Amino acid sequence: MIQGSSVKFKEIFEGSSEGIVIVNKEGIIVEANPASERIFRYDSEELVGQALDSLLPGRLREKHHQYRDQFHKNPSPRTMGMGRDLMALRKDGSEFPVEVSLSHTVSDGQFLIMAFIIDITQRKKAENALKQSEEQLIVYATELERKVEARTEALNDLIHKLEEEVLERKKAEEEARKSLERERELNELKTKFVSIASHEFRTPLSTILSSASLIQQYKDRGDFDKQEKHINRIKSSINHLTGILNDFLSLGKLEEGKLDVAIEEISLKEFLIEILEEVKPSLKADQLIDLTINESCELHTDPRILRNILFNLLSNASKYSDAGKKIDLYCTCFEDRITLAVHDEGIGIPESELKHLFDRFFRASNATNIQGTGLGLHIVKRYVELLNGSLAFSSKEGKGSIFTINIPNNLS
Ligand code: ADP
Repeated sequence: MIQGSSVKFKEIFEGSSEGIVIVNKEGIIVEANPASERIFRYDSEELVGQALDSLLPGRLREKHHQYRDQFHKNPSPRTMGMGRDLMALRKDGSEFPVEVSLSHTVSDGQFLIMAFIIDITQRKKAENALKQSEEQLIVYATELERKVEARTEALNDLIHKLEEEVLERKKAEEEARKSLERERELNELKTKFVSIASHEFRTPLSTILSSASLIQQYKDRGDFDKQEKHINRIKSSINHLTGILNDFLSLGKLEEGKLDVAIEEISLKEFLIEILEEVKPSLKADQLIDLTINESCELHTDPRILRNILFNLLSNASKYSDAGKKIDLYCTCFEDRITLAVHDEGIGIPESELKHLFDRFFRASNATNIQGTGLGLHIVKRYVELLNGSLAFSSKEGKGSIFTINIPNNLS
């Protein structure tokens, strides 16, 4: 025991749970308390006299000598191995981690280093276990995150599929609703046709019948002029009947969506002249259609549809104007479209009824004495839409009407 040390110090030295090893300048252990013997697994008194090196793993001894020399030069209390793990060697050669604090003293003129040693094997184990569980936790968290991501993705997929399904179902419902609606409209059309046919067909059919029997009489009398007059009446009645049938057929096809647009190139002026020739026989006495066209152009459109549109507008202009009144057809060619305007000086349409003009079966209140079905303009509007065109009109009751259509020149 260090000479002169008090009994108190001895008690602390012996009873300390920290290992205390006292080493002289040469690195020889001069004192070792029971705790240090326990830590290094030496027998009692066995450590004293041993070189401190025997408590260090071989690979660390060289470095330790350097540290010891530095400590001798600048001896101050300190903790060893800051920031790194210190390893020590047991008697049985096994290594274990330690924490060491250094201090020094001079006893009987001899410089002594005191090392306070704690075996931190358990702490290191706990730290490692903690580290491992932290790592494990990170692995779990990553795994969890991955699972959540996969789940979210699966959920999103499911939501997307569900949304698509709902959309599909809505589409199917809408389709079903539309086809039901179409069917209902077609049925309505059929019913309307029967009622209109029974009403509208009666006059032309009885005209045909009476004219036919009159022709017979005039034939017997040899009156050729009267015969011709009645032949013309029969022709116009048949034209009228054909017109009604055509309107119903067109509407039926439009409703069923069976009308395809077939674009062709037409020379506009010739095309219009042809139509005017066709309309001519159904005009009233002294009615004349004046064509004004800036220049002819090649138009790319569906000629059958355009023909029907013009036929309808021109027939109306004639039908709703008195004999002898003038009808104008204005045509302007632009680079990408044409404009056609049918102008008459007829009965016009009452202002309050204009909003219904394109409704199916609409007939203005001032037109009830004139034959018609109220289908023509509705068909015209739908035909113009089929050609991607537009339609405008203006009308004044008692003054006349003007219907203008814009049709694109489908050059592509
Ligand atoms: P319809 O001539 O067979 O009755 P339309 O659909 O062609 O059927 O016309 C609907 C209604 O619009 C006509 O009944 C008539 O009252 C009015 N109308 C159409 N065109 C003219 C016109 N040029 N002048 C006056 N009224 C017209």
